[in-house]
Amino acid sequence: MNPDLISKVTKPTRVIRLDNVSKTYRNGTAALRDLTMDIFAGDFYLLTGTSGSGKSTLLKLLYGEDMPSSGDIWVNDYHLNTVKGNKLAELRRTLGIVFQDYKLLPRRTVSENIAFVLWAQGYSRAEIDRRLPPALKMVGLQHKATSFPEELSGGEQQRVSIARAIVATPPILLADEPTGNLDPDNSRQILNILKQLNKIGVTILMSTHDEALIRTSDLPILQLSNGQLKLINR
Ligand code: ADP
Repeated sequence: MNPDLISKVTKPTRVIRLDNVSKTYRNGTAALRDLTMDIFAGDFYLLTGTSGSGKSTLLKLLYGEDMPSSGDIWVNDYHLNTVKGNKLAELRRTLGIVFQDYKLLPRRTVSENIAFVLWAQGYSRAEIDRRLPPALKMVGLQHKATSFPEELSGGEQQRVSIARAIVATPPILLADEPTGNLDPDNSRQILNILKQLNKIGVTILMSTHDEALIRTSDLPILQLSNGQLKLINR
């Protein structure tokens, strides 16, 4: 077989690249120092580090919420240092994002919260109706479709936010302390859902400082300390 073809078939696709990235806030805090890192399609990393070690800062840079002070970042082939306007919106559509505090719309039902993302991206009613049931099923909330967020437990609200993050089938999911407000059982359930998503090909970077979760999981770890990253493979 043509060797070029073999290398094309077997070469993993790089979906995130950080090249000498540093972030120093205006008040002088050096949150990230000279990070260089590649993440490939299908990877699932836990991003760990004590509070204040720069986990949120790194995730914010990856979804274009903030800019690095120096260095280059590529996500899904978008060069984040230069991407703006429509292109930034386009990049964000290739990312699912999950936050510690769920960020659900309180006056909208579970289904409406999930559908809203698709509606905002211009999906047709028929396509929205097609995508909603599998997203609800993925997080085990078919029976809560018409409930409002305040009628759900914290774990259920986080599962809605995961369904919302993946309903447009983005290739990458970024999760910033998604289990931060949850008890151990619910945390494990969230991690299991993310593992299922990873199995069907979603690349995942999830920050956590939950020691029990880190200890009992076999996922590779990217550990931030003093603004620098260390890879721990297990
Ligand atoms: P983590 O998510 O690991 O808790 P953060 O990324 O939130 O850490 O913070 C990393 C460091 O940067 C901390 O010292 C924090 O105080 C500082 N920091 C975060 N955001 C800002 C900001 N907007 N302005 C100034 N300093 C900040």
